[in-house]
Amino acid sequence: MGTIRTAACLGIGTELLGTDRLDTNSLEVTARLESLGIEVVAKGVAGDTVDGIRAVLSCLAGRADLVVATGGLGPTEDDVTREALSAWAGRPLVEDPGLAAAIRERYRAHGLEMPPFAVKMARLVDGATPLPNPSGAAAGMMMERDGTVVAVLPGVPHEMREILDGELVPRLSAMTAGERVLRRTLFLAGVYESDVERRIAPLYERFGRRNVTVLCSAGTVRIVLRARGPEDEARRRLDEMEAAFTEAVGEDLAAVDRDDLAGIVVEQLVRRDQTVATAESCTGGLIGGELTAVPGSSAAFLGGVVAYSNGSKVRDLGVDPGLLEREGAVSEAVARAMAEGARNRFGTDWGIGVTGIAGPGGGTPEKPVGLVHWAVSGPGGTRASHRIFPGDRASVRRATVAMALDLLRRMLGEEVAHGG
Ligand code: AMP
Ligand code: MG
Repeated sequence: MGTIRTAACLGIGTELLGTDRLDTNSLEVTARLESLGIEVVAKGVAGDTVDGIRAVLSCLAGRADLVVATGGLGPTEDDVTREALSAWAGRPLVEDPGLAAAIRERYRAHGLEMPPFAVKMARLVDGATPLPNPSGAAAGMMMERDGTVVAVLPGVPHEMREILDGELVPRLSAMTAGERVLRRTLFLAGVYESDVERRIAPLYERFGRRNVTVLCSAGTVRIVLRARGPEDEARRRLDEMEAAFTEAVGEDLAAVDRDDLAGIVVEQLVRRDQTVATAESCTGGLIGGELTAVPGSSAAFLGGVVAYSNGSKVRDLGVDPGLLEREGAVSEAVARAMAEGARNRFGTDWGIGVTGIAGPGGGTPEKPVGLVHWAVSGPGGTRASHRIFPGDRASVRRATVAMALDLLRRMLGEEVAHGG
């Protein structure tokens, strides 16, 4: 067998093709393989049919040194993974006496007679190595054809995991190049994806396009950096990449290998013995919810107002009714007044105010659905920003939370930079 550098995952089960079961086994398999320096280059899902499994397996085997498949090894009629492997390998299924005895013993230990069909689970593709299952009857197996290694594990997640860690990983570690695949994630908020892309584009060539993945979601961007090689070398390479990308994105970088903006903000506040309060309209308390989800946040978060109506903005936050009349509730001036109102009412160092049109209704040509104004008021003054967010009500609200917390993060950072 040659050195294993690349792998593919195959999820087997008709339920995985439907809408109610997700192939989560492949995520666990991928994590283990990466820790062995084996890179997953393809994934597939096949229903429980011999032809379907064989076709997807052939395709994946042509793309990788190793295929790790899970599922369809049970004793019932619909479990046909063994037959499919046999067809793919062009070798018959033969009963493994050791496995047959173990299965019989399993049933006996539970006080049961082994049903005749259960012996099916003792059958292996001729020449395959069994991968014993310590907590179930269905063993896995491992074999090779035309230079590709194929390992099959049961689909039940905890059984899959046990055989993966106990049997497969130790065998594979002797077959790798002794490398590692390491990742590091730069987390950015309050930025446009296109802006980030423009700034990091020159780095793609230097570090390799395939070693950088940009992931966007409501108001945030993640840049996932990847390096492969002997561990020390991979780590050095990642450090070098992190330094280059950090320089490119500047103060937009919120954190490395963490994405909990609320936690980051609370830590900064606690470190400086400062406090914050919120005034939320379109987010209805989500910012307060994020802040209070952080353990120990009571040291920094004093409270908030969900000011969903104009009346509440006036009564609970002291927003000038004339301002609401002139500018409208969704406006920079009102967001500022809300942030300042929260700060005054709660006597905090910082106040956050957000007001917007989350949709789907309520938009106008001047103030379309998705328009959100947010503001942060602090010791050095009040700063506001706005954006027309795409997406549905939930994503507009999620993005608003990220933007408002990120503005506070940035202002806290500047205070530190200026010795505040
Ligand atoms: P099987 O080994 O095919 O009989 O699968 C047994 C159980 O494991 C079923 O409930 C499956 O839904 C679950 N399962 C099978 N494959 C996967 C997978 N790739 N990810 C998560 N669960 C799975
Ligand atoms: Mg199944």
